[in-house]
Amino acid sequence: MNIAGVRDFLRPVTDEQARQWKPGCAFLGGGTWLYSEPQMSGRITPGQAADSGAPGIETLIDLTSLKWESLQVSDSGLDIAATCRIHELLEYQYPSKWFACELFENCAKALSASFKIFNEATVGGNICMSLPAGSMISMAAALHAVYTIWPHGAEPVKCSSIDFHKGILDNALSPGDILRSIHISEVWLKKRVFMDLRSLTHIGRSAALVIATLDEETREVEFTFTASVTKPYQIAFETLPSSGELDVAIRQVIPKEAFFDDQHGDVFYRESMSHHLAQQLRSKIENGAM
Ligand SMILES: Cc1cc2nc3c(=O)[nH]c(=O)nc-3n(C[C@H](O)[C@H](O)[C@H](O)COP(=O)(O)OP(=O)(O)OC[C@H]3O[C@@H](n4cnc5c(N)ncnc54)[C@H](O)[C@@H]3O)c2cc1C
Repeated sequence: MNIAGVRDFLRPVTDEQARQWKPGCAFLGGGTWLYSEPQMSGRITPGQAADSGAPGIETLIDLTSLKWESLQVSDSGLDIAATCRIHELLEYQYPSKWFACELFENCAKALSASFKIFNEATVGGNICMSLPAGSMISMAAALHAVYTIWPHGAEPVKCSSIDFHKGILDNALSPGDILRSIHISEVWLKKRVFMDLRSLTHIGRSAALVIATLDEETREVEFTFTASVTKPYQIAFETLPSSGELDVAIRQVIPKEAFFDDQHGDVFYRESMSHHLAQQLRSKIENGAM
């Protein structure tokens, strides 16, 4: 643990206590990122990105002590508490008609994570980090999840997973806001899903990850692009597009500058792989793979 500036560790038992955030506080999910960096002044933490004068972290507010129910199945779909550990998401028994739940495991495996991260990281923590390789983001975006946010000092609001993400380490949260839960409606859970990814090294950080969803009744198809781009992009089609149509749509919808460059892949690799993976998934759907 490298987090040297922490003076207080709060374990709230009521939601009100959890919302007593002030500058210098950070919400703790699984701690896999919070405990991996010094977190001293000048570090960027989600929600502080716009405030370079923000102090380092002096107080941790452990959201897991609130004991929110991790997963709730209802007629309308699935509610995932932000504090749900990624491993819990995989162990739950979902209704058999919710084909899209297979994404949970595929996306969890996409994290370049040791068993410690796999077991400790929370779904909400991964989403709030807003890293391009945040595969809980990929899953939530592809399934049109709706997030419930508790803004600091204000009433809860809903935000679509697509609108939430603004860029690398940047999202709709302001300092002191809490991501409370993630709702996925049954309509999306019943879709067929197809996913593929590439990274430069075996089990390395994802450089491109594409998910396609297919509605078996309407034949609508949607492609969601993450990891290669600074925030998720989606392209929906009324029916399966031709290879050429898909290529054109990707070029029209995803701006060139959305593909980024770092040690996990350069712009050319990320863009080419995004096209390639989408085409592979398109062929799979065309050939009737399920
Ligand atoms: C070796 C290693 C490999 C990693 N690989 C990946 C990877 O492949 N992809 C990837 O995306 N990340 C990766 N990470 C980063 C990180 O571990 C993951 O993003 C993880 O999912 C974060 O979840 P957590 O619950 O541990 O978050 P925490 O570390 O607890 O929190 C992360 C951030 O989110 C905030 N936060 C947490 N929960 C909430 C909430 N409910 N509301 C508001 N704010 C909240 C925290 O204050 C903090 O700023 C890696 C980290 C390490 C050390």
